[in-house]
Amino acid sequence: MNPAHLSSLKLDALALDALPARERTDAQAHLDACATCRARAGELAALRSHFTVNVLPRTAPALRRPPAWASAWRWWVPALATAAVLLLMLRPVAGVEPEFGVKGGAALQLYAHRDARTWKVEEGEALSPGDQVRFRVDPGGLPYALVVSVDGAGQVNTYHPYGGARSALLPTRGVVEIPGSIVLDDARGPERLFALFSREPLAFDAVAPALKELAAGGADAIRDRTRLPVPAGAQATFLFEKTSP
Ligand SMILES: [Zn+2]
Repeated sequence: MNPAHLSSLKLDALALDALPARERTDAQAHLDACATCRARAGELAALRSHFTVNVLPRTAPALRRPPAWASAWRWWVPALATAAVLLLMLRPVAGVEPEFGVKGGAALQLYAHRDARTWKVEEGEALSPGDQVRFRVDPGGLPYALVVSVDGAGQVNTYHPYGGARSALLPTRGVVEIPGSIVLDDARGPERLFALFSREPLAFDAVAPALKELAAGGADAIRDRTRLPVPAGAQATFLFEKTSP
C-alpha cells in the first residue's frame, strides 16, 4: 500500500467527486486498500453531515441576501466546494488569561483553493472573489473555539460556529479541521480573523463590542490590531486582503 495516506482534503474531494479522473482513480484505489483512510473518510462524512444539517439552514438565507450585505463571507456546504485545500499558519497570539496556561501555541490556519490550484495563504495575502477558504485550528489544548472576523466594510462575522451565539466545543483539543468552506464575495479591503480559545464558552455578545470598536477604526486598525481585548485563554489571528482578481 502506498504509505502516503490520503489527506482530509483529498478525502473530501473524493467524496464530492471533485477530483480529476486520474487522481480520483488513484485515491479510490488507496481507499479500497487502506482501512486507516476508510475510517478517516467515515469521520469526515459525519462532519459533512453535521455541517449540512446544522449550518446550511442558517446560512441559506444569507446566500440570498442582496449585494449590500455582500461583504460578509458566504459559507458553502462542502457539496458545493470542489476540494478545498491548504494550510496557513496563523500567527499565534499570547493569551489574555494568564491563569489559563496554554501548552503550545494556539494557531489558526487557512486553506485556499482556486480553480485547480491550492496554496498556503500567507499573512496579508490578497485573495479574490470566488476563492474557497477553509480553516484549521489548533486550540492550544483548550476545549472551546469561537472564530470571528471583522472587515473593512465594518462587517462582523462569526465563522465557527457559523452565526453562533457562543463558542463551540471542539471534538478534540488537538488540531481540528473546521468542516465546510466559505467562498469570498466581491467586497474589497482587509479582513481579520480571530480564533478565540477558552475553557468555558465565550458569548459572541461579549466579543462583539471589541470587534465593532476595531471595525470603527477602519482599514488601518484592522490591519494593525492582532489581539482582541476579550477573556479568551488563547488567541490566534490572521489577516488577508480582499481584492479584485
Ligand atoms: Zn491510507
